[in-house]
Amino acid sequence: MKKLAFIKRSNGSHWVGDGFPVQNIFSYNDIAEKISPFLMMDHAGPTVFPPTQEKLGVGQHPHRGFETVTIVYQGGVSHRDSSGGGGTIGPGDVQWMTAASGLIHEEFHSEDFAQQGGPFEMIQLWVNLPAKDKMSKPGYQGITSDKITDVLLANDAGTARIIAGAFENVKGAAHTFTPMNVWDLRLNAGKTLSLDLPKGHTTALYVLSGTLKIDTQIIKKAEMAVMEREGTALAAEIMEDAVVLLLSGEPLNEPIAGHGPFVMNTRAEITQAIQDYNNGMFGQIVATS
Ligand code: MN
Repeated sequence: MKKLAFIKRSNGSHWVGDGFPVQNIFSYNDIAEKISPFLMMDHAGPTVFPPTQEKLGVGQHPHRGFETVTIVYQGGVSHRDSSGGGGTIGPGDVQWMTAASGLIHEEFHSEDFAQQGGPFEMIQLWVNLPAKDKMSKPGYQGITSDKITDVLLANDAGTARIIAGAFENVKGAAHTFTPMNVWDLRLNAGKTLSLDLPKGHTTALYVLSGTLKIDTQIIKKAEMAVMEREGTALAAEIMEDAVVLLLSGEPLNEPIAGHGPFVMNTRAEITQAIQDYNNGMFGQIVATS
């Protein structure tokens, strides 16, 4: 049985651009080794936005060395990048962007959502790439909810949407570079969540809403239970109906050197990334109608 290692609480709130009021749940500056292969996670909202004609969000900025995964719970997000990727995603959809060797992108509220207004909630997760893949070609996977299989959990505990990885013989929709599971769990109060996860994986349960209890510890909204890597069976009591993001992944065990939107293995590679970006090597976003 996996034991609870620790509870990770928010590092505080800030705005990403003018569209995303986020709580930073973890980053490579605080629990890098313990949470590998994951690097960073922001939880935006839930926040109600009034209708607007303005374009709210964050304009052109670069990334290199990892992937950004955006999971929309409420509202809509539009994205464009310099590798030609782009799209609009809504509730239940996921955007899995591989920055790898480098790209420039922009992230805004979708036009439809901006015009209507309403509650907005999303997760942005950064997934590290192994050193050998950091300079591979950028990519973009727009994963709409119809491509994400919803499975029933044992003990009437609820459902799991398999975004990445595998649940028994159900495969996740996303292609990943290293073994990992990213599951969107909807859990029923009074039941017990009981999962079997790969041996040696980093494993964490982030509570977006509701309450869990693991090893006598209460895990509340905006808190993340990080489990020990030993063992494969995970159990949690569901105290209140809950929305939980399960993250599990094989740790990379490689050095991390990060500077803002660049995450590499050495300081020299960071210097190179800044130089390459300044020299225009990350390309340009081509305007589309
Ligand atoms: Mn970004």
